Amino acid sequence: MVTCPHCDQKAISWQRKMSMGIAREITCPNCGKKLALSWLAWFNLIPYCFTIFWIFDHTRGWGMWLLIAIALFAVSLIQIFGIPLVKSRKS
Ligand SMILES: [Zn+2]
Repeated sequence: MVTCPHCDQKAISWQRKMSMGIAREITCPNCGKKLALSWLAWFNLIPYCFTIFWIFDHTRGWGMWLLIAIALFAVSLIQIFGIPLVKSRKS
């Protein structure tokens, strides 16, 4: 579980955090306040986009999809363990 920056409770599941996008906010089930991913998430997304372009350019067939799956898995792990949740500016 991930700790909510508003109420300091472990209220958000790993799956919930993994499914978050940069522009997508979630509501804490404990305190009901809005949470967003830290701006650090941009540094995760940008290299990922370049990697995807590189894969499309250099590989074909099943190898391409395998590399994309690995890149997606890596980016998800970074999002879960490397990117903190922050209080949403809109709440
Ligand atoms: Zn909360």
